[in-house]
Amino acid sequence: MNDRSVTNAQDPLSTPVQFCRGVGQQRGELFARLGILTAGDLLRTMPRDVLDLTQISAIHELDDQKLHTIRGEVVDRDTRLIRGGRSMTAVLLKGDGGFARGLWFNQPYMLQKFVLGSVVLFSGQPKLREKRWEFSHPRVQWLEADDAETTPGLLPRYGLTEGLSMHDYRRAAGAATDDFAEAFVDLLPASFRDSLQLPALSAAIRGLHRPQTMAEYEAARHRLIFDDLLEFQLALAMRRRYWQRDNQAVPLAVSAKIDARIRRLFPFQLTAGQNQAVTEITRDLARDHAMHRLLQADVGAGKTAIAVYAMLVAVANKLQTVLMAPTELLAQQHWQTIDRLLHESRVERRLLTGQLTTRVRQTVLDEIASGQADLVVGTQAVIQQDVRFARLGLAVIDEQHKFGVSQRSRFSGGQTSPHLLVMTATPIPRSLCLTQFGDLDLTVISELPPGRQRIHTSRVGSPVDMAKMWDFIRRKVAEGRQAYVVCPRIEDGDEPGQIAAAETVFRDLQQQALSGNRVALIHGQMPRELRQQQMDAFRDGEIQVLVSTTVIEVGVDVPNATLMVIYQAERFGLSQLHQLRGRIGRGRFQGYCFLLSDSDQPEAVRRLAALESSANGFEIAEADFELRGPGDVLGTRQHGTLPLRVANLVRDRGILETARQTAFELVATRQLDEPEFAPLKISVLDRFRTLMDLPQTG
Ligand code: ADP
Ligand code: MG
Repeated sequence: MNDRSVTNAQDPLSTPVQFCRGVGQQRGELFARLGILTAGDLLRTMPRDVLDLTQISAIHELDDQKLHTIRGEVVDRDTRLIRGGRSMTAVLLKGDGGFARGLWFNQPYMLQKFVLGSVVLFSGQPKLREKRWEFSHPRVQWLEADDAETTPGLLPRYGLTEGLSMHDYRRAAGAATDDFAEAFVDLLPASFRDSLQLPALSAAIRGLHRPQTMAEYEAARHRLIFDDLLEFQLALAMRRRYWQRDNQAVPLAVSAKIDARIRRLFPFQLTAGQNQAVTEITRDLARDHAMHRLLQADVGAGKTAIAVYAMLVAVANKLQTVLMAPTELLAQQHWQTIDRLLHESRVERRLLTGQLTTRVRQTVLDEIASGQADLVVGTQAVIQQDVRFARLGLAVIDEQHKFGVSQRSRFSGGQTSPHLLVMTATPIPRSLCLTQFGDLDLTVISELPPGRQRIHTSRVGSPVDMAKMWDFIRRKVAEGRQAYVVCPRIEDGDEPGQIAAAETVFRDLQQQALSGNRVALIHGQMPRELRQQQMDAFRDGEIQVLVSTTVIEVGVDVPNATLMVIYQAERFGLSQLHQLRGRIGRGRFQGYCFLLSDSDQPEAVRRLAALESSANGFEIAEADFELRGPGDVLGTRQHGTLPLRVANLVRDRGILETARQTAFELVATRQLDEPEFAPLKISVLDRFRTLMDLPQTG
């Protein structure tokens, strides 16, 4: 919050919080712990919710025709076993005009949530049984001590810190609203606000902390969330404009001859989705400012072919091009694919990874610097560190979804910039895409190449089912198919525990379920040559079953591998499981994926069920996002959270869409450059200049 505090003595909103009415030094220190230093901070901090005490029914007023909220003191509670081994938890409330009961089945843990003597609200549709009103699984609101005393009305509730009571917080926020709400300068012009039906900022501040109706509170919340998202989207839109203006690029033309020559290389026709992507990319490449595009496609949709097409356009235009992968394994694999496709061409191609000897590496670096090498494949780490290109025309970054707006790299290539194509392995939920990658143009491919079957996915819990599964796998392997057995990642990367798990599974399978079959083990910490040997042997069919850690997660492409067993599947994220599953079913044989899990955690069960029932990576990504939040989906936990103040991407998806559209329109129509928008523009630049590398003036 305090990033906005202005140290301008003239601004009443910069009044230190301890000087606000009803605060004082001691509470001022408690507010500081919440990041609230000034009156402005106090008022811009949204309540976490609002308690609606306007519609409380007395118990003698209840009926079973509609929803009711009652309020009462907890006077009795117990849990007992009933028929069928189920449990029933009952909580008795003494309220206005009598008693009522709340009931929960099979949720014995509810018992501890009700302290005798505490005051709670039950909401739900009651039923009269044996002359007593009962709420089955009601919505419960626990009142803090302060809430219980106050009179009916709408009571905002805030996030607290130890020592600061709800009552004190509410009083301070209320008083500050009376004293300072009018001091807020609205950054949005009135006509613009009206067209979007947004309340004025001062009105919104009052609606947050002194709401008269729920509708007023909701409109106020909407306004603050909208502002937060609008500013972020404006920054992205400005960054995009800036990128286009300041990144002069060499236009890359595609003649019919070039197009035909490239297409001839592929052993298949491009799908309609791939063709659409190629059209969008070649249109970008023909412009004199650098392409900045994100290609999103489900696993197995054929992104590699699109990348190769674009790279060969660069080469045909006598420029250099580079494909960067996140891991050695993937770089190797892309190299093999591309090398195979180009085996009869004269394109000078080089592989650059960390495992080259110093001498070879230096030679490659020299060839790239002199312009002798046309096409380079390598790992991101190595290339971004050491390489100088003579005339780079296009950079492709594969499988990059772990880097946000601020981490994405830029190449500076002297006078002109290279075109940039980013490809993601995992479909990204739309709302995340609009933020993490919100400054990129977007191509989405939603179809898979023809002839792909849906992979049969099933959860395996019991030992009996396990035995059947291994039977099935032995049979399929005997028919010539191949299998992956994946052991969970404990944390990011190849942890020792994960390797131990993989080693144990490997030994067990060799000795028992798969004895007599050719089984091998790979993990990220074995020597590269050995790992590569094993991968090659698997690709050539010499190895039938590959036990591995998640090193095979992205990109590995062996069409004859149609079986996958995932141990402790509940320990993976949904998108990650989908990604893993994408390794099989790449050829003409039916794929089977077995999710081993004996977990009965509701969240785990829901996640695995989502995977069993959906084959669509975009759907799965949305589900994962809802269940686990943005950090896990993008792996951004380590990279910090999104720079948002009050918005939440799962909750506020609808508002995001409007903010996005509004922001990009303001920039495209140049309205943002009009004087009436100057305060907003300045505020956006202040907030995001550093993070997004924006110029002084936008
Ligand atoms: P991803 O998008 O997951 O990176 P790949 O580029 O690895 O997918 O392609 C997956 C598989 O599909 C590869 O074996 C590739 O040869 C094949 N493939 C790609 N495009 C087509 C197509 N148009 N028709 C048939 N097979 C294709
Ligand atoms: Mg790929």
